[in-house]
Amino acid sequence: MSLFDQYLKKECRYCNSKLPHAILELGIQPLANSFIKKDEAENSEFTCPLTITRCTHCGLVQLTHIVPADLMFSHYLYVSSTTKTFQVHFAEYAKDLKERSFKKENLLAVDIGSNDGLLVSCYMKEGMKALGVDPAKNLAEDANKRGITTINNYFNEETVAQIKREYGNADIISGNNVFAHIDDIQSVCKNVANLLSDTGIFVIEFPYMAVMLEDMVFDMIYHEHVSYINITPLKYLMSQHQLEIFDIKKVASHGGSLRVFIQKKAGVYKVTDTVTRYLNEEEQKGYNKQQTYIDFSDRVANVKTTLLEFVNTAKKENKTIAGYGAPAKGNTIINYCNFTPEQINFIVDDNPMKQNMLTPGAKIPVVNSQYLAEHPTDYVIIFAWNFAEEIIKNNKQLKEKGIKFIVPLPKPEII
Ligand SMILES: [Zn+2]
Repeated sequence: MSLFDQYLKKECRYCNSKLPHAILELGIQPLANSFIKKDEAENSEFTCPLTITRCTHCGLVQLTHIVPADLMFSHYLYVSSTTKTFQVHFAEYAKDLKERSFKKENLLAVDIGSNDGLLVSCYMKEGMKALGVDPAKNLAEDANKRGITTINNYFNEETVAQIKREYGNADIISGNNVFAHIDDIQSVCKNVANLLSDTGIFVIEFPYMAVMLEDMVFDMIYHEHVSYINITPLKYLMSQHQLEIFDIKKVASHGGSLRVFIQKKAGVYKVTDTVTRYLNEEEQKGYNKQQTYIDFSDRVANVKTTLLEFVNTAKKENKTIAGYGAPAKGNTIINYCNFTPEQINFIVDDNPMKQNMLTPGAKIPVVNSQYLAEHPTDYVIIFAWNFAEEIIKNNKQLKEKGIKFIVPLPKPEII
């Protein structure tokens, strides 16, 4: 019996098959978003194995241990409006959905996991009636204060009944970076099928598992992401709920995500060739084979070795190292490599909610960008590598001073 057995997932959430042994183990890690207040540094942290496996029946890659949702989502630090990239992203997202919609007027849009309400506000700007659903109390309260109707709950039967009663069926249901977060996804799909109008669009956005395989972005693995999704298993899941994928669009956010458009089976939208193309590609590239994932695991271990060698060599030469960006995913790399504040002295992040906190596990202090300007280090590892270009551009003067920036993935590189 292990202390962590209570979190062990025995069956696949897409197909109920018994799950095989682990493919990749990233160690026992704290929650990637649980930044620590400095005066609470000595308190013990919640930790759980961060390990993935792959269902051999339906092909879904998933965590072996599931942390109860309340521990992760009841107070959430990530606020989507903090970056300009996301503001533009969601404005385009809302516009695209309106253009695609079969129904043209009086649209009702529901955003699942609406965070601070950014996408809901974009729906409103497109003239739709819109509301968000989010379990994080602090974010929901704040959104409601700003006039963005947000139901503070999980997207469950009760929430759906409330929406149907007060607003009717939804023409658009969206879930951005939530679909991969939900353990009981069968209930969510059932509730979506119940809330969606006959001409409605269910649209989800999630980091594409194939991208993780190709670009080695294994830092997308953290406890909040319970599923790592390819189109093949997703299609299978949807078919169980009389839903079908009718289009797929590639999006750049989070280093390579997919936006997948879903409708009720045999609905009004034409199923595009893109869907078949993705399915064929996954088959041809070996993404439906177990061995592909075992090879991936070996490559991840190599990244760790390279990063550790780099940091150890730098420390031997008395060089100093800072980090740039304290996204949740950065903590996966940091804790997988067991980095300490002696190795990485501090991490810069623009989110004021993270500043003056310590990173979970490693307990590296998070500071604002001014601090780096005043305390320049020899190296800066960019953990928010998807914003590397923006970060380097904004810190040109540091680069001119001779500070070297390092992007850790797909393989550690000085740029
Ligand atoms: Zn399965």
